[in-house]
Amino acid sequence: MTPFPRAPRRLDVPDADWWDAGWQLRNRIRTAAELARYVDPAPDEVRAIGALAARFRFVITPYYAALMDRSDPACPIRRQVVPRTAELDDPLGLADPLDEVAHSPVKNVIRVYRDRIAFCVNNECALYCRYCLRKRMVGEPEWAMKKRELETALDWIRATPAIRDVLLTGGDPLVFSDDRLAWLLGELRRIPHVEIIRLGTRLPVTLPFRVTDALCRMLAEHHPIWVNTHFNHPKELTAEAAAACDRLLRAGCPVGNQSVLLRGINDDPATMQALCEGLVRMRVRPYYCYQAQLLEGTAHFRVPIERGLDLFEGLRGRTSGFAIPVYLLDTPHGKVPLARSRLRGREGDYVVVEAWDGALWRELNPLDDERDGARAKP
Ligand code: SF4
Repeated sequence: MTPFPRAPRRLDVPDADWWDAGWQLRNRIRTAAELARYVDPAPDEVRAIGALAARFRFVITPYYAALMDRSDPACPIRRQVVPRTAELDDPLGLADPLDEVAHSPVKNVIRVYRDRIAFCVNNECALYCRYCLRKRMVGEPEWAMKKRELETALDWIRATPAIRDVLLTGGDPLVFSDDRLAWLLGELRRIPHVEIIRLGTRLPVTLPFRVTDALCRMLAEHHPIWVNTHFNHPKELTAEAAAACDRLLRAGCPVGNQSVLLRGINDDPATMQALCEGLVRMRVRPYYCYQAQLLEGTAHFRVPIERGLDLFEGLRGRTSGFAIPVYLLDTPHGKVPLARSRLRGREGDYVVVEAWDGALWRELNPLDDERDGARAKP
């Protein structure tokens, strides 16, 4: 099997520091000057870092920054995490396109379905993805969860016997210390009706050193634990990331991948195929690929739904069936697989889809590059 390449190192620091998650978190990039140690920042990036400082935080781990191309602002790693002024030009984007606040019975618990919840246990991530669905909350102090707020959410789960499946998300639950996460998992495991605990984490991609043997041993004490991570591009498939996924798998955690279809990053068939086949080589199942939401500051990332349909239908027959993720639109009514057979029609610029409960949802279809001219320019 072709081995995955080791991630490059841009800083001359001892191995013990570089491979230490705590060192990586303490040395995250937060300014244009710090970014210049890894890349030659483009004028647009420097302007955007200043202009967006108060709107959506800019933070990158040294490990992930080292994956960026030094001279190419169109680098698919760089575009995911370095601000661009295109983020300021999105008149249609919403702060909470899935209406998650309205679906929250208690703080940071999102219930769309009867039997399962997304529990946003913290507001922190190792880095901040520019297209993040929860940019309204990640890095924002008001969405941090104090211990008593976690206990309030646990009380609600205890009192709601219909809840069978709990997704710990955020932010990123693996930013918690092992002790805090062990406490939370232990409390959930003591609730008889909670059958499955899932972790939604991007740390295998952005900070793989956080996935330690000790963490995996602790997770294995609370099975069944399922993990979904979030690779978007083949450049993220490093030896370090593969080792982190391998540790989770050996601890008995099935690992799936949920990517986002992002314009200019992974919206061409060859890139998506290379990503999915690389994931399968890692024994990580490509699970979902989300249509990017109508989210503020992300017009330059959104892909027309027809192009997404063409891309995923085009993979059929070209690669293993289980290497093709479900192309998915998330809506306030739940998730809707996107396939031509599932579309219920068009209304002007909107595509109409039918959710699992029969509700019809109208999604504004992103314009293609030629019409909206929104593709981010270097
Ligand atoms: S890791 Fe996930 S939650 Fe955190 S900023 Fe990225 S997309 Fe958002």
